[in-house]
Amino acid sequence: MPCELPLTSRFEIPESHTLPVSQAYRGYETLATLFTLSPQAVIERVKASGLRGRGGAGFSTGLKWSFVPQNTGKPSYLCVNADESEPGTFKDRYLLERDPHQLIEGMVIAAYAISCHHAYIYIRGEFMLPRKRLEAAITEAYAAGLLGKNIAGSGYDLEVTIHRGAGAYICGEETALLESIEGKPGKPRLKPPFPAVSGLFASPTVVNNVETLSALPYILRHGADGYRQFGTEKSPGTKLFSASGHLKRPGVYEVSMGYPLKDFLEKECGGVVGTLKAVIPGGSSVPVLRADEIDAVTLDYESIAAAGSMLGSGGLIALNDSVNMVWALENLAHFYAHESCGQCTPCREGTAWAAKILHRALAGHGTRKDLELLLTISKNMTGKTICVLADALAMPIDSYIAKFRDEFEACFNR
Ligand code: SF4
Repeated sequence: MPCELPLTSRFEIPESHTLPVSQAYRGYETLATLFTLSPQAVIERVKASGLRGRGGAGFSTGLKWSFVPQNTGKPSYLCVNADESEPGTFKDRYLLERDPHQLIEGMVIAAYAISCHHAYIYIRGEFMLPRKRLEAAITEAYAAGLLGKNIAGSGYDLEVTIHRGAGAYICGEETALLESIEGKPGKPRLKPPFPAVSGLFASPTVVNNVETLSALPYILRHGADGYRQFGTEKSPGTKLFSASGHLKRPGVYEVSMGYPLKDFLEKECGGVVGTLKAVIPGGSSVPVLRADEIDAVTLDYESIAAAGSMLGSGGLIALNDSVNMVWALENLAHFYAHESCGQCTPCREGTAWAAKILHRALAGHGTRKDLELLLTISKNMTGKTICVLADALAMPIDSYIAKFRDEFEACFNR
């Protein structure tokens, strides 16, 4: 791989979160180029880079920006999704802690491209150090003329507001996030209309993840081709993976898309503690892969999809053979039942009943009928709700039972 990585190249430098260090290592260098380009040219460059949203959906970033209508008479908004809370995912917090100026630079690029003059950062309320570092970085950027009026003498203005969440996982869903910024309970909206047309304060809005925006300075600096020297044709660039579970060296790693999953576990994470049983490749909500299914899998959207799962947010969890999969699923069901916002019956009731049935089975009272009921509940939760939280539990239910049926039958045996 080329040595300058798009996301983490400043991570190990002492005081990397401060403006002097950021600027000593090329921070904000792209602004000189940015303001010589038209917003449309910036969108085209990001489209050509192939950058896809790193929050989980994997949608083309440049294309998403191009949906924002211009000259509507309303302001356009950029909202940064820093509400990272998917179990197993802990990468954005490091971007906020180690290099908040990279994010701010990326925000200026994105905001300029969509003609936005007021951007919001929705940050998970529990993030204490990331918030402090981000606030300090924003203060530094304002003082240096890199935010606010007439940024770097360009005539372009951008104000930034930080909005802290109050601990709800569902506020990471983009429309719930917008509701929360507006001061309402964080409950997802029905789509359409999509945020690009009617988002924050009913105005055109782009919601981008921290990692997505943090990749933009590199793309502006090195061009689309520079970014495409990493990754695969359809999944260009690098990606942060937060690796946890039974690994000798868990942590956050930046690797090229297309990196072999087995190499990732062995070389980056130091190998598995004990015998590998399963891998959850993209955060807790994606289908699980059995150890014997990962041999040919590479870390990119297409390969993981071909194996029957999803890249998601890159929250990779390795499970060894000490894990009881019924227990693992009950743990997840409890989480999603707790985090359901309650608007949709299949989600509100389905997640709660799934958690109860699994809990009962672990207590020794599970019947074969319960196992079939669990699968029926899952079917009724799939694709029938306002947002994908219900699917986020239905997918694990289906895949855990399909792939570890013997363990479930041993538990649901009355
Ligand atoms: Fe709320 Fe669940 Fe419906 Fe999403 S699917 S809107 S979390 S009830």
